[in-house]
Amino acid sequence: TPVILWFRRDLRLSDHPALRAACALGGPIIPVFVLDDTFKTLGAAPKWRLGLGLEHFAQVLAKKGSRLILRRGAALDVLRSLIDETGADAIYWSRLYDPGSVARDSAVKAALKQQGIAARSFGGHLLFEPGSVQTQSGTHYKVYTPFWNAVKTCDVEQPLAAPEAVPAPDKWPDSDDLADWQMGAGMDRGAAIMRPHVQLGEAAALARLDYFLSDIVAGYGESRNYPAQDGTSQLSENLALGEISPHRCWHAAARARHEGAQGAQIWQKELVWREFAYHLMHHTPRLLSENWKADWDTFPWNTDKRLAPVKAWQQGRTGMAFVDAAMREMYVTGRMHNRGRMIAASYLTKHLLCHWKIGLDWFADCLIDWDPANNALGWQWSAGTGPDATPYFRVFNPETQRVKFDPERVYVKTWIAEEQADPPQTALDYYRAIPRHWPMHPQDTYPEPIVGAKDGRGAALRAYEDRDF
Ligand code: FAD
Repeated sequence: TPVILWFRRDLRLSDHPALRAACALGGPIIPVFVLDDTFKTLGAAPKWRLGLGLEHFAQVLAKKGSRLILRRGAALDVLRSLIDETGADAIYWSRLYDPGSVARDSAVKAALKQQGIAARSFGGHLLFEPGSVQTQSGTHYKVYTPFWNAVKTCDVEQPLAAPEAVPAPDKWPDSDDLADWQMGAGMDRGAAIMRPHVQLGEAAALARLDYFLSDIVAGYGESRNYPAQDGTSQLSENLALGEISPHRCWHAAARARHEGAQGAQIWQKELVWREFAYHLMHHTPRLLSENWKADWDTFPWNTDKRLAPVKAWQQGRTGMAFVDAAMREMYVTGRMHNRGRMIAASYLTKHLLCHWKIGLDWFADCLIDWDPANNALGWQWSAGTGPDATPYFRVFNPETQRVKFDPERVYVKTWIAEEQADPPQTALDYYRAIPRHWPMHPQDTYPEPIVGAKDGRGAALRAYEDRDF
């Protein structure tokens, strides 16, 4: 009897517990992806990237003699009709943890079990199931360092090899055509501008992991701070879509660590930030949409995203070179260096006193590595509203950060064309990428800061001090 394998954010063949369990049943496997309502709110860039991921994954499955069946509609209805069409008696999937997916999956599981279908969910997206990490008093961790201390010596399952074959059914059910899903709508800059920056699929992710471990990880403790360097793994887009598993990353880092690579444990700590973000999202889903610390609800944030300073921030013309370089990097590549994310987020929430949700939404529209938990934690951390957040009064100075982490202005010049006699292609690509109505041109003079480093800090601190806690 066939088993349906419901793929979501786990577009890989190796280290895939649900797939392994399905193969162990010995019958044919029907891989399916369902475009349901949970994708309606997906931003333009991550949706486009998901489309690429699906296209690629379908080709990978085809090489194994299998197929990715695409269907659109409410997940339960789609899965039920596939059961009718194929005679499948089991549906397996890898767990997700955002509130929308959890609600959907619980309802699907309960309904299918009632009709006698073996509906089973498996791990794979996280190293540690959120409910499994608890403080001694049985509550969940709210601060990162004790969380890290609690998990750092825990056993992490060894990655599983990809199955030799993915057995096909005698007859395939119909599939939608991916082109009809219009995954690239709203991404005019997609194919021409952003595509060369995409690291697509499992094989590319595994190759990058190898390269990162052989050439970068030893010096990662330092190199990760410098946005002009190729000093991090760049695996976030693959982790976000499950094109690589965190288990594989963890064990590869553990091996590098035993071989003496200094930065390997620091990198494992970053992987655990991802775990921590998921853990918080699981226990307190308000992380995604509300101030985690409710006493911030009375803070006088600007919440109007149409205001001129917000536009200047989104369009990379605040006059703060580090911020603008980071915003332009994201618009062209769909990625932004972590230091850029911290500085851009700090500038929006502190210097410009704008609500972090404005930034969260913009990033969610532009990042190809968009991840619900990591993005929300990053924003709440930066704004000072989150658990274990940087205190509000610690305001990054974008100019001193630039001097420290981009002393030769390499990063800034990579992305900002104005006032360069011969700007690099990356900086010029930005003008190819942006919509026509954005008021920018490479021959412009670079703008004066809309809010200067010191003035913004002063205003942020005054607002903070006036706040009625
Ligand atoms: P590496 O330095 O190689 O780290 C390895 C992996 O660890 C990353 O791929 C990521 O999965 C995880 N990781 C690293 N840093 C963090 C962190 N601070 N929090 C959680 N996980 C982390 N990351 C996303 O994956 N998606 C997002 O949408 C996202 N939005 C962010 C928004 C803001 C405002 C901030 C400050 C950070 C955000 N991050 C996000 C976290 C971080 O910036 C990226 O994970 C990192 O830059 C990705 O590059 P890398 O893969 O080379 O990371």
